[in-house]
Amino acid sequence: MTELPPLREMIADHGLRADKSFGQHFLLDLNLTAKIASLCGDVSDAALIEVGPGPGGLTRPLLALSPKQMIAIEMDARFIPALVATGDAFNTPFEIVEGDALKVDEAALAGGKPCVIASNLPYNVGTALLIKWLKAEPLIWRRLVLMFQKEVAERMVAPTGSKAYGRLAILTAAVASARIALKAPARAFTPPPKVDSAVVVFEPLPENRRFADLAALEVITESAFGQRRKTLRKSLGMAAGKASTSSEVLLTAAGIDPGARAETIAPDGFFALARAWRAAKG
Ligand code: SAM
Repeated sequence: MTELPPLREMIADHGLRADKSFGQHFLLDLNLTAKIASLCGDVSDAALIEVGPGPGGLTRPLLALSPKQMIAIEMDARFIPALVATGDAFNTPFEIVEGDALKVDEAALAGGKPCVIASNLPYNVGTALLIKWLKAEPLIWRRLVLMFQKEVAERMVAPTGSKAYGRLAILTAAVASARIALKAPARAFTPPPKVDSAVVVFEPLPENRRFADLAALEVITESAFGQRRKTLRKSLGMAAGKASTSSEVLLTAAGIDPGARAETIAPDGFFALARAWRAAKG
């Protein structure tokens, strides 16, 4: 164990400057990062994975949770020495992976342990990473604690009928329960981005309540929300065509009024449509 210098000092000592091409906006307020870390819950039996630790403002309170194992995945090699020094200040087994989180196999890294993933995600890959984790088979995570641009966070938790309701809310609802746990204004970051942010906590639904055919669900929601102002009779034409059927057949099988619009249909209705689509496709 070594004593850690203050975060700003560590950043200055290692000459670390935010690089926009990596979507870097740092959290230097350790009260805020401690709050985010506390959303991970008890991780004493878990592999705690942080994506994009950067200079380590969130890494410190995550390590302080004493997870069974801590894994940090960072694409920008400049941060590695500071992260090694950060890890040395804690007793937790700490692995640093230099690479692209989109390509990493988290299950292999965690070696069979349940995972909790925490991240102040870079805006440019945040949604892609979430979709990767929602689609993971088997689902190895038991909680995700993720910072997104506020508008994107709102799309994940959007209720049926709201303006933000769409493909992301339905995909999320197929796999997990999600809630916005805290909001962070742009000024909480260094340098401040142009938008505010929010932390979303995801927990998997019990296996028997998940909707597993996400490929069919994506075909349906892409078609339905691709033309969200049209009635489902019209907008589902593209999906129906891919299964050599008509939108009326799919809607009747799902018990949905063909004159309804996509945003008025709850996730369960889309799951029923995806089932009907799969049955038609064979
Ligand atoms: N967690 C740090 C904090 O809160 O101060 C940094 C957050 S910054 C918004 C995003 C971090 O993710 C940067 O360190 C960036 O280099 C890293 N990053 C960007 N794309 C990545 C990717 N595809 N895989 C892994 N890390 C990535």
